Amino acid sequence: MNLDAKLTILADAAKYDASCASSGGVRRDSSQGRGLGSNEGMGICHSYAPDGRCISLLKILLTNWCQYDCLYCVNRVSSNVPRARFTIDEVVRLTLDFYRRNCIEGLFLSSGIIRSPDYTMEQVVEVARRLREEHDFRGYIHLKTIPDASPDLLQRAGRYADRLSINIELPTESGLAALAPEKDGAAIKRSMARLRVHIDDAKGEAREAARAQVVSLPKARPARSPAKSFAAAGQSTQMIVGADATDDATILATSAQLYGAYRLKRVYYSAFSPIPDAAGALPLKAPPLVREHRLYQADWLMRFYGFAADEIAPPSGGGMLRLEVDPKLAWALAHPDRFPVDLNRAPRELLLRVPGLGVKAVERLLLARRVRRVRSEDLQRLHVPVRKVLPFVVVADHRPAAPPDAQGLIASARPAPRQAALF
Ligand code: SF4
Repeated sequence: MNLDAKLTILADAAKYDASCASSGGVRRDSSQGRGLGSNEGMGICHSYAPDGRCISLLKILLTNWCQYDCLYCVNRVSSNVPRARFTIDEVVRLTLDFYRRNCIEGLFLSSGIIRSPDYTMEQVVEVARRLREEHDFRGYIHLKTIPDASPDLLQRAGRYADRLSINIELPTESGLAALAPEKDGAAIKRSMARLRVHIDDAKGEAREAARAQVVSLPKARPARSPAKSFAAAGQSTQMIVGADATDDATILATSAQLYGAYRLKRVYYSAFSPIPDAAGALPLKAPPLVREHRLYQADWLMRFYGFAADEIAPPSGGGMLRLEVDPKLAWALAHPDRFPVDLNRAPRELLLRVPGLGVKAVERLLLARRVRRVRSEDLQRLHVPVRKVLPFVVVADHRPAAPPDAQGLIASARPAPRQAALF
């Protein structure tokens, strides 16, 4: 099989992994001789580097052959899809070629499990080692690690990769046992814990080295060897949403536990997509994409706005996020007693709960009110969405006459209807 054919199969097989995917764009391609270029199926995805830059990654599997039989996965052993396998050399060459042609800034590499977790992980690590040590590759590398691989291999992976990820796959242990019986939830968490220790150690060493450099006189001490980095962009994971009946409250509780226990950088939510020849245990339909979107918004609220998982999707609401409004507005409408919030007096934590106020807007407000009392005309200057915020706040010249009109706000949050396209 030639390299193009392998690339077609192994880039397509990697698209189900959301941990570095760009989603929501309009699909375009140049099939049937129309136009130039394509934004799907070519194995290039976008991700965010630790410094916030959006970067393009070559996103591929080493192989889509796999000895496991995870029911939700198109690459499972019982799936009837064409298989392919890159050699280590081929992945290295492809990465360097794409990089030199300025098509990518890094590599996202995952793999089905061949022979054994250790054998597969060795191959994945070897790709990264050759890129770094033999070709002095300075681009971004994200490796998907295999939880059952030996701790030594995970450690080596972290020496070469910017980011490591281990997929938790499903929000509950029982879901994992039902849909991915060969995977071991405890082993996944053990590996995450090991990665956390290595990442913390490397950060500690880097801090120590920086301190020593500041306090030591250049000639007084022998030069220290530079601290070894370990997955400097941290670790992440992916959870499949909608492959079983787990509710949003449970999903968010699992995420909160993962962020707390293993200091993950990100939990990615991937809406289950029905696959060919799916097992009977799986739903026939994908969950609405907006559910995935609401989970990302809720995740954001937990990480940056001080919300707890059980506040965002309380059991009283059936444990599911409302789909028609974002979770922050849903929380505000469910807690009219907490509003209006006085923008000139409220503490930061309360300001962060006002619908429409983002973290930056809150910082700007806190600075502005040190100088003078904030008025409604100041809000626009502070880049605050005035119409969204005013029903929930008090400022020097404004106090809402009545509690927010829930139905009106829900209606205004709804996207405008679009006329169907003509074919
Ligand atoms: S181990 Fe990974 S590639 Fe293999 S079947 Fe499970 S999810 Fe798919």
